[in-house]
Amino acid sequence: MDWDKLNAKFEQADPKSILRWAVGEFGEKLAIVTSFQPTGIATLHMLTELNAKVPVLTLDTGILFPETYQLMDEAEAFFGLPITRIRPELTLQEQAAQYGEALWERDPDKCCHIRKVVPLDKVLKGHYSAWVTGLRRDQTGRGNTPIVKWDDKYDMVKLSPFANWTSEMLWIYIHAHELPYNALHEKGYPSIGCNTPVCTQPAKDGEGERSGRWVNSDKVECGIHVTAEKG
Ligand code: SF4
Repeated sequence: MDWDKLNAKFEQADPKSILRWAVGEFGEKLAIVTSFQPTGIATLHMLTELNAKVPVLTLDTGILFPETYQLMDEAEAFFGLPITRIRPELTLQEQAAQYGEALWERDPDKCCHIRKVVPLDKVLKGHYSAWVTGLRRDQTGRGNTPIVKWDDKYDMVKLSPFANWTSEMLWIYIHAHELPYNALHEKGYPSIGCNTPVCTQPAKDGEGERSGRWVNSDKVECGIHVTAEKG
């Protein structure tokens, strides 16, 4: 595919049109990977409007917030899309026995590798031709995110239909369509990951949507986008 040409076209298109193209192009070989942040919610809504039955995958690390588990159930019912919860090979207890308690405090990269990167790799690679992410350029470190690219990491096409949307645009969309969202967003958490004191905190004033993730460390990504769009 001519990525430059496609990106130039998609920069002028709305996310729903991009999703429509992806569904037509990849059919059942297209997967949505979401952690039910606002972009994921808008993606699911647009897919239901397109009447597209695309597999929805989410990484259930086993240590998500109760509010996130609740939203998963709610979203499954609301959108009528079955959600596949991808779980790591090791339970939290097995991980603690093998690597020690609270690995996320000592080596969050290893923890994310075990609980997110490897499980997603197993499910995506070789099974799909394209995946849809919720990456946006207004998020820290993601300023160069293309809407579409070849993803060497998973050997497939990677789509970020909302790359040029802002957080504000998403919230207008979500409220306008009365869509469900994570209750933690109203408690100061714009970005929500695992429920540990180091992995997810409320965002600091003026420091960006993902400033509460992996606090007091240089880590800014869990690893599933590591070969990707550094801003
Ligand atoms: S976000 Fe934290 S707890 Fe979750 S997998 Fe990564 S390091 Fe582990």
